[in-house]
Amino acid sequence: MTAFPGAGAPLGQALEEIHAAAVSSPGVGRVADYIPALASVEASRCGIAFANLDGEVHAAGDAGVPFSIQSISKVFGLVLAMQRMGDELWQRVGMEPSGQPFNSIVQLEWEHGIPRNPFINAGAILVADILVSHFSASRQAFLSFVRRLAGSERCDINESVLASETRHGSRNAALAHLMKSFGNLEAEVEEVLAHYFFQCSLEMSCEELARSLLFLANRGVHPPSGEVITTPRDAHRVNAILSTSGMYDQSGQFAFTVGLPAKSGVGGGIIAIVPGQGVITAWSPPLNRHGNSSRALAMISELAGRLGLSIY
Ligand code: GLN
Repeated sequence: MTAFPGAGAPLGQALEEIHAAAVSSPGVGRVADYIPALASVEASRCGIAFANLDGEVHAAGDAGVPFSIQSISKVFGLVLAMQRMGDELWQRVGMEPSGQPFNSIVQLEWEHGIPRNPFINAGAILVADILVSHFSASRQAFLSFVRRLAGSERCDINESVLASETRHGSRNAALAHLMKSFGNLEAEVEEVLAHYFFQCSLEMSCEELARSLLFLANRGVHPPSGEVITTPRDAHRVNAILSTSGMYDQSGQFAFTVGLPAKSGVGGGIIAIVPGQGVITAWSPPLNRHGNSSRALAMISELAGRLGLSIY
């Protein structure tokens, strides 16, 4: 069993201890129900995984159970769009923290339909527009990309979550229409939303997610295959925006306490990139008021603290 440099206990043992402590801690928060299909998940589910740059995965609890990755999909979408588009991308979406809830509308009007960053909903919908405009079958391209990164054909869409997202997606539709009115969406709103809801409905396990994002810990080269996914500059850029904006209006606090590029989703998952070392993924459905999983946050915080993983 491998250990992090400087880790006292082997990593597997640390993950077991951290998982046990999380499971026995009083549950804080509520499972997301604004997308009704998400509310049917068992609130007590809890898992943590770490994938290192040799492609080895250590895990504890429900780390092998697929869950709705929701906004974690924004990372894959952005990387795919960056592969297709040069720096003009950054004329259409910003790179600043929003300081607002993930689905806020107000700022978008003030800022003329240019989302603050690609990890709030408006920004990810803008990225979905780029994907729809650059791929003849953007949803299939997205799914194939993620499966290739995860090394697993098993990763798939949850059709009932997709139907539920589509049915209850008025706020996302409002964001898309507002951007369209400012001339910042090229494709038809319905097509863009169909892509966005599709990618949010993807299910993956902690283990699959950790493996699939290793290229961000390795300057753009995916360790399992050696494939170049991004340039080192783009890997740096994605990690920089994850650090400032990946945890929405809790990003400052997360940087303050944990100090890793990270992304959350309302399915209860959080991924954290440890540059040069690997990827941590944790999952527990109940969310705090920022829409971030309380237990996943606590587990990643504990692991990063014990092992001194902060990048700062
Ligand atoms: N599908 C969700 C939404 O659009 C994703 C939000 C999230 O995970 N923070 O509202």
